[in-house]
Amino acid sequence: MEDNNHNSTAASEPDVQILTSGGLLIPAHSTILATVSPVLENIIQSPVKHRRSERVIPILGVPCDAVSAFVEYLYNSTCTEEQMEKYGIHLLVLSHVYLVPQLKQRCTRGVSERLTVENVVDVLQLTRLCDAPDLYLKCLKQVTARFKSVEQTEGWKFMQDHDPWLELEILKFIHEAESRKKRTRRHKKEQSSYLQLSDGIECLEHICREGCTTVGPYNIEPAKKPRPCDKYATCESVQMLIKHFALCKRRANGFRCSRCNRMWQLLRLHSSICDHPDSCRVPLCRQFKLKAQQQKLGDDAKWKLLVKKVLSAKAMSSLYLPKRKREEELKETKGSTAQALKTF
Ligand SMILES: [Zn+2]
Ligand SMILES: [Zn+2]
Ligand SMILES: [Zn+2]
Repeated sequence: MEDNNHNSTAASEPDVQILTSGGLLIPAHSTILATVSPVLENIIQSPVKHRRSERVIPILGVPCDAVSAFVEYLYNSTCTEEQMEKYGIHLLVLSHVYLVPQLKQRCTRGVSERLTVENVVDVLQLTRLCDAPDLYLKCLKQVTARFKSVEQTEGWKFMQDHDPWLELEILKFIHEAESRKKRTRRHKKEQSSYLQLSDGIECLEHICREGCTTVGPYNIEPAKKPRPCDKYATCESVQMLIKHFALCKRRANGFRCSRCNRMWQLLRLHSSICDHPDSCRVPLCRQFKLKAQQQKLGDDAKWKLLVKKVLSAKAMSSLYLPKRKREEELKETKGSTAQALKTF
């Protein structure tokens, strides 16, 4: 229906002219302009005395060809890649000023695909005026990612001189992005060490239950070369800790070395998590439970927090990571696992 209207109007004579900054006059049909842009509709419908000329609508401040591309869009709702390449930024401004949301969307996408070190600061300044928050954020991220180069551009220097508030805003964003990154990195590191603790406990449990490669359950003959389990690196470290713990001379003399301490922590962690201490084969499991009850070790807030973090790291990893990815990640961390085990 609307298209028919357009066609029939387009066939009729143009009744307005658009004046561009180069002095070019583009003939147009007021009905079409008014249908697509409420701002142009207002201008067209406003009483004659408020307009500079009855039949001329000035669109100044952007290149002539950008205005031509804009008028073309008002007629056929399309915009070529070439026009976007050359006048994307201008079309964005025009679409904002004349309230043409579809074009604005198209420009936001088009301009964001064409961001470069050279133009990003200009676009950033413009998007603030055009109320294009997505594009604004994308520019900020680009500036953050390539700040060393952006800082050298003319655009940046100009902005520094003329818009110190924007500079401040950008620097603030960069600072926040960096601390966000640091936080995430720290969180990931923490999560992975909790996850390794949880893996260590799992290995300890299965070693004490059915044995693994060199260490078997304490009351059963070591199994004859059982196949290694899938957490091989962690499992091996735990087996070494178990062997050390059994043989450590310093421990026999009443002292505890750092490796014994790690084993001790792992055994206590297991006991805190274990829900069947009566049938459990992990050494000291029941003793730890009893001790916790007697000495109210359970009230140790720091310890409780560690247990909670280990449990939640395990739950998170099994909830959010597909199995294959998790295995890949383990492979990646294999090298560092032995080291991570030192935190036990
Ligand atoms: Zn194992
Ligand atoms: Zn020791
Ligand atoms: Zn247990």
